[in-house]
Amino acid sequence: MPDNVLKCSFCGRNRDEVEILIAGQDGHICENCVEHAQEIINQELHFREDTKTVSGFNQSIRKPMEIKTFLDDYVIGQNDAKKVLAVAVYNHYKRLKQKSRELDDVEIEKSNIIMVGETGTGKTLLAKSIAKMLNVPFAIVDATVFTEAGYVGEDVESILTRLLQVCNYDVEAAERGIVYIDELDKVARKSDNPSITRDVSGEGVQQGLLKLLEGTDVLVPPQGGRKHPDQKLIKVNTQNILFICGGAFDGVDKIIARRVQTNTIGFNVDKDEQEDMKKNLLRFVNAQDLKTFGLIPELLGRLPVVTHLDPLDAVTLRAILTEPKNALMKQYRKLFELEGIELDVEPQVLDFMVEKAVEYKLGARGLRSICESILNDAMYELPSAAETHFTLTKEYARRKFDKSKMGLVKAA
Ligand code: ADP
Repeated sequence: MPDNVLKCSFCGRNRDEVEILIAGQDGHICENCVEHAQEIINQELHFREDTKTVSGFNQSIRKPMEIKTFLDDYVIGQNDAKKVLAVAVYNHYKRLKQKSRELDDVEIEKSNIIMVGETGTGKTLLAKSIAKMLNVPFAIVDATVFTEAGYVGEDVESILTRLLQVCNYDVEAAERGIVYIDELDKVARKSDNPSITRDVSGEGVQQGLLKLLEGTDVLVPPQGGRKHPDQKLIKVNTQNILFICGGAFDGVDKIIARRVQTNTIGFNVDKDEQEDMKKNLLRFVNAQDLKTFGLIPELLGRLPVVTHLDPLDAVTLRAILTEPKNALMKQYRKLFELEGIELDVEPQVLDFMVEKAVEYKLGARGLRSICESILNDAMYELPSAAETHFTLTKEYARRKFDKSKMGLVKAA
């Protein structure tokens, strides 16, 4: 055969043995080899994508100190919780990284977390901020809406429905997401003794949660609930989903007091220190206390990291008004700015707002409604006025607040 017969430089087939022969600079390729090459490319890309999803976080995952610094931008105070969360999240992703190295003899267990703290102290905000940092799907669910199958309410599987919904049913993304389960304390058993009659609202739900936290394949109804009986279930593996639970656990301080009193307090700390400890007993909370409160030991075993949030004092509340990245005052300033108006807030106004939040026992959540009641009239009137500057004085703030729904109710 003469040398100048065209042939595929990859498989060697002659021109007449193939349909198409594409010419390159120094050779040719036939349609079969193009197809084959495409397969190789697809496989390689898929493989790289796979390894990226399991271990890829190590490129982007920050060190615990960096995680805490990130959280500092959004959440004021709560240093203990931030540190514990930072380490737990870091370890969680180290664990994912380890998974890519098969057959490691030490298997790191998941570090699901419980946060104990009064309502409005930043539990949800912490969980949300972590998810923002990691850029993973994040769902918030409320433990009180769950029941055991057969009773009115939602089944625990619907937790995963929410997660799937936030990431547009991308199962792979959902499988490395974060779920925040709020009000876990509301599903506590009413007494420490396992009751003979089954406690439907409490223990049953805890058992259900156990299944999710364990890390298994769960069949999830994509629409949630039981209203769509013929929906096709989606299989979601919960092994790499980080669960963060939160609750106020009202009364747990008494349980802690009992425990610490019998153990340490009174032994090696002086009176002042004892008083100080009593003020915020939550910081001593541990799994034992939560068991006494009514969480079943199996569930606690799946939530190995327990941390607490401090109650918010006036100094913290004031900082919450101005310091976080999207602090309320920054938001209002922006709203006015978009209207072409410069908003100036006298420092005493901030003290006044904090004073009211404390007086009404509203915590950080109340700051928003207090701001609204003070600034609503200004936001109503100023867009139609010619002003380009508005100074919020304490006198103005007090006047508006006293006339608002909030002020009037209290005065009554
Ligand atoms: P929890 O989940 O503990 O009930 P949240 O995290 O929902 O409370 O807090 C309610 C709101 O109060 C948040 O959206 C945030 O605006 C504000 N807030 C509460 N605690 C803090 C904090 N420590 N730092 C900054 N903002 C906070």
